[in-house]
Amino acid sequence: MVKTTIAERITDIRERIAAAADRYGRNADEITLVAVSKTHPLDLVVEAARTGLVSHFGENRVQEGEEKIPHFPSDLDVTWHLIGHLQRNKARKAVELFDAIESVDSLKIARRLENIASEFEVIKPVLMEVNCAGEESKTGLAVKDAPELVDFIRDECPHLLLKGLMTIGPLGGNESEVRRVFATARNLRESFRKSPEDLPVLSMGMSGDFEWAIAEGSTQVRVGTAIFGHR
Ligand SMILES: *Cc1c(COP(=O)(O)O)cnc(C)c1O
Repeated sequence: MVKTTIAERITDIRERIAAAADRYGRNADEITLVAVSKTHPLDLVVEAARTGLVSHFGENRVQEGEEKIPHFPSDLDVTWHLIGHLQRNKARKAVELFDAIESVDSLKIARRLENIASEFEVIKPVLMEVNCAGEESKTGLAVKDAPELVDFIRDECPHLLLKGLMTIGPLGGNESEVRRVFATARNLRESFRKSPEDLPVLSMGMSGDFEWAIAEGSTQVRVGTAIFGHR
């Protein structure tokens, strides 16, 4: 672990987000920082929240959410994002635990989430996860299948609020390759938008590529390693 405090590391990320926003003519206020706390212990996540520098947290497994979310101090007002692939048998727990489900990648899981949210009488914010990197990535639904899922959620899932798209950049690509993938996600969101307020969220960018994601219009970056250290 690097010899800095968690507050220093979050401040550093915030400064890099602000600098990137500046450089690419964006407003840093429109970029949400989600601290990805997967594999890190509850204590460390609480410590991060206590700094007051971050209030959004991301987990990629429902089971890990179960170990953290209900045990989080109730005086801390935080938002929990599910960012990893969701299995059908975990959907109920996911709706119960998470404030937003950002990895909707099939009609089947959307239908399942709709049924559960309807039963709970809640409206759950969701993102659909699209595989914009093609062969290089295995998570998310294919770009060609995205329009059908958008229509399905909009027309047949009144208890799901589709807020936008999530994508993962290609690992180990150079700047132009990674930015091309992020631009694909941006253009895809544009193509689905019905008004400038529609689909406000474009979640892309991780520790290694969030500045490039900001260049391409990201409104939500998901940063794990650069805040919590290596997993
Ligand atoms: C783990 C994870 C992240 C964070 O990745 P880092 O490289 O540690 O910043 C972001 N998004 C998703 C979907 C993840 O699974």
